Amino acid sequence: MKKIAIIQTGGTIASKSSDKYDKNYSISDVALVEILPYEISTKAQISGVKFSQIDSKDADVNFWLNLADCVCKTIKTNDAIVITHGTDTMCETAYFLSLVLDTNKPIIITGAMRNSSSASSDGELNLYNSVCLAMHEKSSGVMIAINDEIHSAKDVIKIHSTNINAFVSPNFGKIGVINYGEVNFYTQTKQLKSRLVNTKEFIKTQIIYIYPGMDDEIFNIKSDVKGLVVIGYANATLPENVKNKLEILAKNGVIIVVSANTISGLITKEYENFITSNTLNPQKSRILLSLALSKTSNINEIKKYFLTH
Ligand code: ASP
Repeated sequence: MKKIAIIQTGGTIASKSSDKYDKNYSISDVALVEILPYEISTKAQISGVKFSQIDSKDADVNFWLNLADCVCKTIKTNDAIVITHGTDTMCETAYFLSLVLDTNKPIIITGAMRNSSSASSDGELNLYNSVCLAMHEKSSGVMIAINDEIHSAKDVIKIHSTNINAFVSPNFGKIGVINYGEVNFYTQTKQLKSRLVNTKEFIKTQIIYIYPGMDDEIFNIKSDVKGLVVIGYANATLPENVKNKLEILAKNGVIIVVSANTISGLITKEYENFITSNTLNPQKSRILLSLALSKTSNINEIKKYFLTH
């Protein structure tokens, strides 16, 4: 029988409201293991770990590093892990974990768009489907399972503020579906050949959003910022004044990654002194940049990470 641990971090999936039509809710101390149907305990040995009780808007670097530690320890005695998480930053957490965890065992992240007291709450089925995905023989690595779909940690993004159909993988598509626990993969899950494992450091980087008519003042950034993700226009184009200012920063040793404000597409534009983000969105680009900077400050080495991770 497979051993699966459910690590609870908080989010809407662990929340309750006073009325089932009330949009306001608060995070409760529910043990999510208990909402699973009895029948699952005849197929897998399930345990619960209460890691945190936060809204994922408050997830920060320490949260990621501590969660990675918790997963590392928990996976040693389990076959798979399900992490319940707020949906606002679950895509970032998934990508971070996929870069730093040295395991191919299934790590499934799930959440809910509607709290557990809500009419048509989605958390119970999302959790059940995630446990079934965690048990599945073809599962491996970090995935998000939500709204009957399976997404890779690298590609998935949240695109809606309230709808339960809030997640898409805009570049490569979902990797499978789950219908009341029945898992079907469309493609094989791909695992990274090398990870940025044992990274206890997350180098300080920032994200700056470009807009028409922007002035340069914002680029007078503090010297302790080693890397900067700039959200340019489609295909990572930049206004001339911004580009010139970034060239100065690059000359001063700041690693610049240019991403795009479009939600999909592989960036084909190339810059001599900047990296472009390939298919990663700005939030995930920043995670990769910070982790890569903890290994090297060589721009060509970091460029390689953006082509392969
Ligand atoms: N704000 C919540 C969170 O990210 C939203 C959710 O869980 O759906 O924790």
